[in-house]
Amino acid sequence: MARYRDALCRLCRRESEKLFLKGDRCYTDKCAVERRKYAPGQHGQRRRKLSDYALQLREKQKAKETYGVLESQFKRYFYLADKKKGVTGSNLLQLLELRLDNVIYRLGFAANRRQARQLVLHGHFAVNDRRVNIPSYLVRSGDIVSLKESSRKLTVIEENISKMEHRGLPSWVEVDIKNFKGKVLHPPARDQIELPVQEQLIVELYSK
Ligand code: SF4
Repeated sequence: MARYRDALCRLCRRESEKLFLKGDRCYTDKCAVERRKYAPGQHGQRRRKLSDYALQLREKQKAKETYGVLESQFKRYFYLADKKKGVTGSNLLQLLELRLDNVIYRLGFAANRRQARQLVLHGHFAVNDRRVNIPSYLVRSGDIVSLKESSRKLTVIEENISKMEHRGLPSWVEVDIKNFKGKVLHPPARDQIELPVQEQLIVELYSK
């Protein structure tokens, strides 16, 4: 299936939830969910009772859209999460959080995950001093993510770094702004992942 290229705010409106897909705009009153908290389209304002299946599907879509992952990739993450020890739903979110594009977003080098993905694809980042241009690369505990020296003057990076403090940093990563580096301290626990998703419903959907 092709990557979604339509208006991002439609995705949030479809879920009636802020998925923070755009970056700074999401924190202002220009946010489309703040203005119109109903699904897009002609029948968007109709009240409907969702079936169990629809509820499960919506939670899966929410997670998939938040991380910008395609269906086949998402299924693969579920399969990996299921194989791992522990709670499958938490494992799934942990794997998604450890994607390189997400880590860069969490560190504050990118305004949103899409931008992080683009920066990775263009080869601006390295993991443990080796250039990595694969957004789905899974970062491990102790890995150092750094920005290439020649990319440090990019306007987009300078803008993002100037806003880093306002965005806040999750407790499972640390950042060294002076040296344009960040470190993953440990994989995030469920309560360290800010995501309005009921992952148990995703597990139920895929376990049918
Ligand atoms: Fe979603 Fe951000 Fe658009 Fe609001 S501004 S609807 S949070 S993408």
